[in-house]
Parts: sequence; C-alpha cells; structure tokens
Amino acid sequence: MELRVGNLKAVEGEKVQGYFEVLHTDLKVPCTLINGKKPGKTVVITGGTHGGEYPGVEAAIRIAGELQPEMVSGKVIVMHPYNLPAFEARLQYLTPQDGKNLNREFPGIATGTFTQRMAYSVTQELHSQADFYMDLHGGDIHEALVPFVIYPTIGSEEVTRISKEAASCMGINYVCKSTSTNGTFGSAALRGVPGFLSEIGGSGLWTEQEVQDYMYGIKNVLKYLHVLEGEAEINNSISYIEQMNGIYAESNGCWYPSVTPGGTVKKDEKVGEIKDYFGKVINEYYSPVNGTVLFVVSSLAITKDDPIVAIGEC
Ligand SMILES: [Zn+2]
Repeated sequence: MELRVGNLKAVEGEKVQGYFEVLHTDLKVPCTLINGKKPGKTVVITGGTHGGEYPGVEAAIRIAGELQPEMVSGKVIVMHPYNLPAFEARLQYLTPQDGKNLNREFPGIATGTFTQRMAYSVTQELHSQADFYMDLHGGDIHEALVPFVIYPTIGSEEVTRISKEAASCMGINYVCKSTSTNGTFGSAALRGVPGFLSEIGGSGLWTEQEVQDYMYGIKNVLKYLHVLEGEAEINNSISYIEQMNGIYAESNGCWYPSVTPGGTVKKDEKVGEIKDYFGKVINEYYSPVNGTVLFVVSSLAITKDDPIVAIGEC
C-alpha cells in the first residue's frame, strides 16, 4: 500500500527523503518515509519538537538514514527536526514565529498561529495514520536531566498498556506516567495512538553516547512493535514513577539549585533558591515528596512560571 504524508509519498518497498510542507504555512520540514516490503505497523518518530534538544534530533536523522524498506515490516515516518525554525534559531521551548511551545498546542488548529498549524499538520497527516508514536526530546538548552520516558495514561487501557510496555523497551531507567493532553504524545493517545515522550541529554549539548543510547532504544521499540526483526530486550532496572512533581519559579532572577539530576531527595529537603540581581534570596524551594530528581534548570537565568525542578515519586 502506498504511504502518503501530505505532499510526500512512497510506494511499497520504497524510501523517500524530502520536505513535508506544513499545512497553511511556508514551512518545509525534513521528513523520511520508509515503506517496508512486508506489512506491519505504521510508526511515527519526531525529533526536535523543541529546538535545543539535540540527541533526539541527531538520533532521528540517523534512524531515518539507516532504516531501509528491506528491513522494515510496516511503515516508518520520521521528522528530523520537526521544529526546524526553533532548531535553526537555537531557541529553547518556543517557536520563533509566535512564541508558543509546540508541545502545548496539540491537536493544533488549521487556521491558528504558526505553531498551532505545525501541531495540526502532524495530527492530521501523521497521527491519523499511526499505530505508534515516539517523540524524542531531551533537556532543553537550559535544562539538565537524568534520562526518563513519559507515557500517556489518558487513552484507552490498551493504549496505556502498549505505551508503558514500549516505554520500558527504551533502555531508560525512569518510566513515568503522564496525564498531559495538549502535548504531542498525549494528543496522539487521545486519538487511539499509543506512544511516549523520551528525554535523553540536555543543557544544549549532545554526545555520541547519548545518540547511541537513543538508537538502541528506538530500534528496541521497533522490535517490540515487530517493525524490525528480533526480540526486544526488557530492561530489568526500571523505576516506575507514579507522579512527576514539578516546581515552578515564582520570580525572574538567578537560580541556584542544590540538587542534581538522578539524585534522591527527602520531603522538605531544599532543592534550590532564587536570588534577585543584587544577590538577595527571594524564593526558596523544598521537595514536596520523597523521590528522585528527574530534571533541574541548569541556567543561571530563571523566568517566572518556568519549571525549575521535577521530582519523580515512585
Ligand atoms: Zn522537549
């Protein structure tokens, strides 16, 4: 069967690399279609939903390059990077055209702002035909983190089960529940598509090891979905996180964390403080729970209402 994604198409047994034209904009996103020789599931992979999360972008480019129709049972669609304007602007969280966070704008609006149209295009052209969705993130330019993967619990029981099992195949030790509805993967789950959002790397950097970790995880999930041949390996050292507790900045200023990603904290233990530009402490933050520190803002600059620390509670 032909694979068609907007203006791009690949017949059975064909691989096509080109630019996906985002509906109702002049944006063209690098995109790869691999239409396998054998039947199977359709998997969508996006890297770079946020512009400064580099291991996921590089892994998306590599998996798009490596996969060939002979290797694939089913179909794989890769966007690399999805948020090309943010990537080129080296802009964290936001799309430069309208200052919106693409991962808060799903399912999108056809006639909305630039970011809302970007979301709408993926909902309409990719999620609509997907059997599974992987959204590859990392800590953004100002975020440090320990690798973790978030799966949606807002879809059907079956969607939640497949999402959790696949997330457990990423080779990542922290697997967290999510009830987000306006992000990429939550929106897909509400439309019956299981998936997850993974986080590897951060602070505006990327290493070969992080990309290799991503490549291992993506291929292992493709094996779990029977898109690639071979047995998926199950990770036996996973901590399943029931709840992620985000702590948010109450002021602009300078941020001084006292915890590091991957560390454990006790309830009421101090996690950091914000000082004003004269060095005076204006806010202090304490952990609401016993748990593991999943991410910490790594920039000195902090902006009111931004997340500063997330603590996972088992
Ligand atoms: Zn992200």
